[in-house]
Amino acid sequence: MSNKKLQVALYWGAACGGCDVAVLDTNEFVLELSGMADIRFWPIAVDGKYHDVEDMADGELDLAIFNGAVRNSENEYIAKLLRQKSKILVAFGSCAHMGGIPGLANFTTREEIFATAFLHNPSLESGNRTVPQPHTSEDGRTLSIPHFYNRVYKLADIVDVDYFVPGCPPAPERVKEVLLAFAQGALPPRGSVVGASEHSVCDECRRSKGEKRIKSFHRPYEIIQDPNRCLLEQGILCMGSVTRGGCGVRCPDSNQGCRGCYGPLPGVVDQGAKFLSALASVIESKDPQEIDRILDGLPDFASFVYRFGLPASSLQRSHRV
Ligand code: SF4
Repeated sequence: MSNKKLQVALYWGAACGGCDVAVLDTNEFVLELSGMADIRFWPIAVDGKYHDVEDMADGELDLAIFNGAVRNSENEYIAKLLRQKSKILVAFGSCAHMGGIPGLANFTTREEIFATAFLHNPSLESGNRTVPQPHTSEDGRTLSIPHFYNRVYKLADIVDVDYFVPGCPPAPERVKEVLLAFAQGALPPRGSVVGASEHSVCDECRRSKGEKRIKSFHRPYEIIQDPNRCLLEQGILCMGSVTRGGCGVRCPDSNQGCRGCYGPLPGVVDQGAKFLSALASVIESKDPQEIDRILDGLPDFASFVYRFGLPASSLQRSHRV
């Protein structure tokens, strides 16, 4: 490790904040991190301003860690600014990597989102018809807010990304390993997924695996589970077979199916389509009506299989967006 401190920025775009918390969840390592890195910009933790970044020379930062998707013009501006100012840009967490949960909004349009949030929301004051506009003028003054795009983008749709750290959020142990690797310059080729394994969640899952013959699907609370047996064999949707491991198998270990947040396995283009194909092979029936009955037990299937990666899928968005 060189004696020179790493110059680092962290930023969140369209995100819930969990990725920033994942960095803090490395516990005492955060203190170690502050010994080897100067945190030049981190809105959730440090009172910095955008002009602090704008005033930097190009490439002055060694590392910029961007979590969150790109939902609006402010997210896009900062993504481009950090790309310009940093030698390495990292898409950190599911939203930056694949669009994440905000990306589910690509099933609907901006107009429908605004109507739900600002016109038909039961918590609104009766008669309130105020919908945010990018520019509002009053008394000769104009107030501008970010432009809300019609769809959500993953970070790599907007700028070149050097590394991808998957997870919603990334597991703290993996975060620590990744930050140490950056600090020590021990990096794989650019474009790599880091902080994850090359194997599937199933490969790392401790549950016993037998033949899968599914007769019906259940939500986890609807059945008494066998805690040692594969969840999918018990009819609980689990995307472990098509999802990259490294997370610590946190969901199956908590009696929940893997939700796919670590993204597709190496070589898989569309995680949702791959899971659909895997599922088709384990349904125990050849009778179309029986198959329909079994599939009816899968409410909102598209949102399940693309929960973290609709903008990164072949589909990307609804045809209406
Ligand atoms: Fe474990 Fe889920 Fe894979 Fe079954 S499908 S082995 S529960 S990760």
